[in-house]
Amino acid sequence: MSAPDSMIAAYDRSNVFARILRGELPCRKVYEDEFVLAFHDIAPLAPVHVLVIPKGEYVSQADFGARAPAEMIVGFWRAVSKIARDLGLDPEGYRIVANHGPNGGQLVFHFHVHIFGGGIMGHSTG
Ligand code: C5P
Repeated sequence: MSAPDSMIAAYDRSNVFARILRGELPCRKVYEDEFVLAFHDIAPLAPVHVLVIPKGEYVSQADFGARAPAEMIVGFWRAVSKIARDLGLDPEGYRIVANHGPNGGQLVFHFHVHIFGGGIMGHSTG
């Protein structure tokens, strides 16, 4: 099953996360493997705020779910859990957010999830 093309914009290779993946821009790396790169958000919104991005050209979560190989999808989500665990967030809990499209507040059009932790998260949708 794949998403309709109209939901998926073309991937722009000059986006900031693509540049971080290519090593053209710095980041504060937390974790890296064959599937993902994770780094601290430059403007943290929680005591712990880490971004996890796949090593592939995916615009959004819909694009990732539609086009990424199953191995990549599993590798990505396992890495997210591992990173949260390694950051010490697991026992108390944490929040995972993926902003999708303009109404979702997505600013960088390379799929990523935010891991928020280190405190109690409110229930506002922002
Ligand atoms: O999910 P959304 O696209 O809105 O969020 C993009 C995130 O990327 C922001 O939280 C922003 O602070 C972060 N960012 C970053 N490093 C950059 C550019 C943006 O951590 N160089």
